[in-house]
Amino acid sequence: MDVHVPGHEGIGSIVKLGSGVGDRRRIGQRVGVKWINETCKTCDICQKDETLCPDQHNSGRDTPGTLQEESKRRFCLDMGASHFFSFTDPEIEQGIHAITGHGGAHAIVCCAGAEAGYNQAPRLLRRGAIHLPHIKIC
Ligand SMILES: [Zn+2]
Repeated sequence: MDVHVPGHEGIGSIVKLGSGVGDRRRIGQRVGVKWINETCKTCDICQKDETLCPDQHNSGRDTPGTLQEESKRRFCLDMGASHFFSFTDPEIEQGIHAITGHGGAHAIVCCAGAEAGYNQAPRLLRRGAIHLPHIKIC
């Protein structure tokens, strides 16, 4: 499985509840996501120490991690960003050009876990903008 969402052992607050969650969780509740998402629970190693299971699945390694959209949005806005756009937003180019006076951004910090974000970033910059080398998160 090719995981495009990095991050493990994250913490945050619940912003939306899915069906089947029950009444144990509520919006606004602080929660954490453990590194081990799943183990086989049947091997000899699991019988002694589940954290060492060779067949374990981990958050951010082979299952989607904790650096998800809402975390990124909140982090950027808390750090002083005036706007937040996801590279998956189909209107991102129009949105960025609209708030920058149709010239594009002066600079972009791209920290996407998917190559598409790095390929898209140059199209969002204005002429003469700072063009940082592409750094792919592995
Ligand atoms: Zn096991």
